[in-house]
Amino acid sequence: MNLRVLLVEDDPELRTTLREVMRVEGYEVAPAASLADARTQFSHAQAQGQERRAFDLVVLDLGLPDGEGRDFLATVRHQSACPVLIVSARHDDSQKIGLLDAGADDYLVKPFSAGELLARMRVALRHRGRRIESALTCFSGHGVEIDLARRAVVRDGRPVHLTPNELTLLAALVRNTGRVVTHRQLLSEVWGPGHAADTHYLRLYMAQLRAKLEAEPANPQLLLTETGVGYRLAEER
Ligand code: CA
Repeated sequence: MNLRVLLVEDDPELRTTLREVMRVEGYEVAPAASLADARTQFSHAQAQGQERRAFDLVVLDLGLPDGEGRDFLATVRHQSACPVLIVSARHDDSQKIGLLDAGADDYLVKPFSAGELLARMRVALRHRGRRIESALTCFSGHGVEIDLARRAVVRDGRPVHLTPNELTLLAALVRNTGRVVTHRQLLSEVWGPGHAADTHYLRLYMAQLRAKLEAEPANPQLLLTETGVGYRLAEER
């Protein structure tokens, strides 16, 4: 059965392009051009006994003719665990952080390539599956093997020693492989909610992790910086 995507985008040209890109990949796409349209389609699909299945993923533009995409994100989060991928022309970092902390799965800034969009969609869908089953506990890529259950990290075949804080930080990124994790989320997880503003901790620990795991720590391929927002553990493409 094909995965169902609710595509909320008011620009007709972009909506058609994105819809085609997704359809070629085998997604079943329901386009919505406004907030009201998105709300109606989403609640109909959620309602029990409907012949249409619930959506597997929402791709959401922020600026819509009848309101803010952000309000629809809240609606989705109240009703389901369906992942939400934000696509927007806006670059504002604090807004990105707010959306991710409010439960968006990821954020793509326009213009983006079809390949980039499809990769982010796959990551978001995989994490939705994992939320239901079990958390992601292993990672392999860029010469690094991580097994969280065994607390084992290996680089180029050699064991790497990590401190408890380094391992907790790395674990938070592994569980979200491919997705951006905000500074606040990482700080709360490793040092507790009282330290959510201490971003200098992160810079320090990320530098230590890169020194231990990256071939070229100054040019990281594994532990990526999302400027002003957070960090992302890169999947090998
Ligand atoms: Ca728009």
